[in-house]
Amino acid sequence: MESQKILIIDDNNENIKVAANIIKADNNIVWATLNVKEGIKIAEMKSPDLILLDVQMPIMDGYEACSILKSKEATKEIPVMFMTARTDDESIHKAYQAGAVDYITKPIKKMELLARVHTQLKLSGMIKCLKKASVTDGLTKLYNHKKILELLNLEIDRAKRYKRDVSIMMLDIDHFKRVNDDYGHVVGDTVLERLAFVIKQQIRDLDMVGRYGGEEFLIIFPEINQSQAYQVAERLRKTVEALIFDDGLTITISGGVAEYSDEKTEHFIKKADDNLYKAKNSGRNKIIS
Ligand code: GH3
Ligand code: MG
Ligand code: MG
Repeated sequence: MESQKILIIDDNNENIKVAANIIKADNNIVWATLNVKEGIKIAEMKSPDLILLDVQMPIMDGYEACSILKSKEATKEIPVMFMTARTDDESIHKAYQAGAVDYITKPIKKMELLARVHTQLKLSGMIKCLKKASVTDGLTKLYNHKKILELLNLEIDRAKRYKRDVSIMMLDIDHFKRVNDDYGHVVGDTVLERLAFVIKQQIRDLDMVGRYGGEEFLIIFPEINQSQAYQVAERLRKTVEALIFDDGLTITISGGVAEYSDEKTEHFIKKADDNLYKAKNSGRNKIIS
């Protein structure tokens, strides 16, 4: 397993040393603090892969600290494992109630700590992977259809609430069927992958792009009006036109741009779609807004 980041929160320096030494020797990065409030801050800022949390501490006990971690957006997904001298039923119940995934009893035994830590890291790694896969398009690694729509709805909410601009571009490869017919499906796939990469390069970090359908992409431009979005789309069109793939293959794209104006999501997308349709009907390799 590659090295993971583990945060230890315990008011006893000796306990920290014992646990930290075991975990460091296992090739992980360890952050440790005696102060629980500081520990919560570190968790928020550094997003460790796992938190080892003492139960009995001054100011705030481990149960309360765990509940706080589980209530914050930035830390709620981080698995928390308690380290405790208490083994009575009530204490164990409280640990799970507070949101812990496991607990380990003190004094800490090396092999037990490592085995439990590894299990939790493996589980949370798998959950992260699955969550990512459920929102990602397998070929292009862009957001999938479902996720880009979800992100668009969030942007629309934001635009409405704060009276901000948001624009979109619906983009489609021209005569892509011919690429498959003339060069084969594998080359077609390569084109889709490279186009996805080029789109990401051409847009800002703030912008979002998803694979909307087969050779159709939806780009969201927060804080951008229609004419600004048109300029980005036009630059993208020119960049794609200049790309040369294997065997001298070149492609072009058409795009429809639209700006949000207090309508339903479906209607917003339809405006962009209608413009894409116009671009296709007026000769392709064109952006219409
Ligand atoms: P237009 O300019 O009107 O958009 O023509 P087009 O040929 O691009 O459009 P059409 O909708 O007729 O065909 C889309 C093609 O995209 C057909 C389909 O096989 C191909 N395609 C869709 N998804 C994939 C994919 O994942 N890989 C490959 N290689 N091709 C795909
Ligand atoms: Mg097409
Ligand atoms: Mg299409």
